[in-house]
Amino acid sequence: MKIFLPRIEISLPQIRDNARMLSELYGKKGISIMGVSKAVLGEPSIVRAMIQGGARFIADSRIENIEKMKAAGITTQFVLLRTPLSQAESVVRSADISLNTEIETLKKLSYYAKAGNKNHQVIVMVELGDLREGVLPLDLSEFIRQAISLSHIKIVGIGCNLACYGGVKPADKNMHELSELFDIIENEFHLGLTIISGGNSANYEWYRSTQDVGKINNFRLGESILLGLETVNRKTIPGLHTDAFKLVAEVIESKKKPSFPFGDIGQDAFGNVPVFQDKGIHQRVIIALGKQDILVSSLKSNNSLEILGSSSDHIILNSKNNNLKVGDEVNFSLDYGGLLAAMTSPFIKKHFISSVHPEIGKFGRDQGARKILPQAYG
Ligand SMILES: *Cc1c(COP(=O)(O)O)cnc(C)c1O
Repeated sequence: MKIFLPRIEISLPQIRDNARMLSELYGKKGISIMGVSKAVLGEPSIVRAMIQGGARFIADSRIENIEKMKAAGITTQFVLLRTPLSQAESVVRSADISLNTEIETLKKLSYYAKAGNKNHQVIVMVELGDLREGVLPLDLSEFIRQAISLSHIKIVGIGCNLACYGGVKPADKNMHELSELFDIIENEFHLGLTIISGGNSANYEWYRSTQDVGKINNFRLGESILLGLETVNRKTIPGLHTDAFKLVAEVIESKKKPSFPFGDIGQDAFGNVPVFQDKGIHQRVIIALGKQDILVSSLKSNNSLEILGSSSDHIILNSKNNNLKVGDEVNFSLDYGGLLAAMTSPFIKKHFISSVHPEIGKFGRDQGARKILPQAYG
C-alpha cells in the first residue's frame, strides 16, 4: 500500500494503554474517566481505543464530532463539553449529556427534548476561579432551582474546569469547594446527582497529593490519554506513553546554503521583518509541511533538527549531521496544539498503527530520518 506524506502516525495500542492506566489509577479512588476526543476530531478508531482502555464516557466540544462517532457505530455515553445555543436541536439528538451554564440554553434544550420525547441530561459547570465557563457558586442554588423547573432537563451532576484560561491549579481548596457545593445542592434539592466532575488532565498532581478526593468521582481527560502528560507542569505521567502520535514529512530540498539571506531585507510572508545571525554555510533541508498544516512551534524533532523558519507550505531546517536527502522522511513529536492542528489539516493523512510491528521498534524513538516499510502499517 501507498504511504502518504505528510502523515500523522497514530499508535492505537498506546492510546488504549494510556486510557487503561489512567482508568485504573483514578478508579482506585472511585473516579471514572471521560475520554475527551476533541483534539482528534472524534476520530472513531482513537475513540474506540479510549473505550477499550476503560473510558466510561466520550466527551467532545463539537456536536459534529459526536455525530461522526455515532455514525461510525460507536455506542457509549456521549457528553458535549461546550453547548452552542443554536445547535440545541442536534445536541439533544446526539449527545446524552451536555455541560451547561445558562438557563436560556437549558430552556432550548428542554424544548427540543420535549419535541423528541426524551430527557436531556445536564452537568452544571461551576466557576471556581479559572474564569472560563461556570455558574458562580453563589448563584448555583438559584440556577438549579430554575433548571429543575424545566420539564425535559435532568440535572445529573456538577463539574468545574480549571487550568484552561486562568491557569488556576486544581488544589484541595477548590476541589473541596466543589464537594461542598454538591452537599449543599443535595441537601436542598435531593437530586441524587451521580457525576461530580472535578476537572481535566490538570488534576493529576492534586489527585496524587490529596488525602481526600471528597465527592469528586469523575475527570474529563484529553491530553493525558493522548500525550501521556499532566497539564499543570506538562510532565509525563509515570507509565504512560508520550509518543502515540508522530508527524512525518518528506524532504523536498537539501542543499548547502548560507545562513544569512542575501539582498535587502523587508517583510517576510507573514509581515514580520526577520533578523538573522550569520552562522556561515550549513546543510539546510526543506520539508513539505507548513503553517497551514501545523503550529510550527509545537514540533519537536526526534533527531535534534533545528527549525530555522517556516511559511505556509514550507519548513526550513538545519539538518546538522543527519545527511538528509530529497525523499527522506523526518519525524516530529507534537504537543497538544500541534496535535490539534495536525488532526485538523486536510493535507495530513492519518495513519493508524494497530499493532506493534517488530521493525518499528527497531527504528526506535530517537531516529529522525527513516525509511518506512510499507508492510509495517496496516
Ligand atoms: C477540553 C476539555 C477537557 C479536556 O482537557 P484536557 O486538558 O485535554 O484533559 C475537559 N473539560 C472540558 C470542559 C474541556 O473543554
